[in-house]
Amino acid sequence: MLLNIKEMEVRKVLFAETWEPNGFDFSDSSVIQKSPLAAEGVAELLPDTGGEVRVQGRIRTDLETECDRCLGRASFHIDAPFDLFYRPLESTGREEEVAIDEGEAEMGFYELPGLQLEDIVREQVLLQLPMQRVCSEACKGICPTCGANRNDTNCSCQPHLEDDRWMALKDLHI
Ligand SMILES: [Zn+2]
Ligand SMILES: [Zn+2]
Repeated sequence: MLLNIKEMEVRKVLFAETWEPNGFDFSDSSVIQKSPLAAEGVAELLPDTGGEVRVQGRIRTDLETECDRCLGRASFHIDAPFDLFYRPLESTGREEEVAIDEGEAEMGFYELPGLQLEDIVREQVLLQLPMQRVCSEACKGICPTCGANRNDTNCSCQPHLEDDRWMALKDLHI
């Protein structure tokens, strides 16, 4: 869906879109959409700002990824508001770009005819995923020696990697 700037000159543009499970393209094959993805909100042109656009809304869905530790399934329920500002690209000179301070870090840019809602939704949903995608904070991961999933089995491997290093040093007879 295009959030059309020309339309915003007349009225606020309301949106309420739903994508069926696996119906949204995240451009990231490690992310699986498990439930409908809903995005609703409003886009408006802010008066006396030289074309600044504000997009407010909310996204909701359930995602699944691979657990970073055990390679099992990690589930994430996403339900988050967003409040974004966009400026017309052509109005921004090189000097002005340099001058953007941290307070304006949320500022994006748009080109006519407007903003693609899908791009906004993709970015906002992926932002909600944590840096560490784990099935649970308590996930014990995979044994580096035998490859067993330590959440399922207690393998009898001893963590002797450190010991081996010390033995190697001793063998040097320093
Ligand atoms: Zn895990
Ligand atoms: Zn093991």
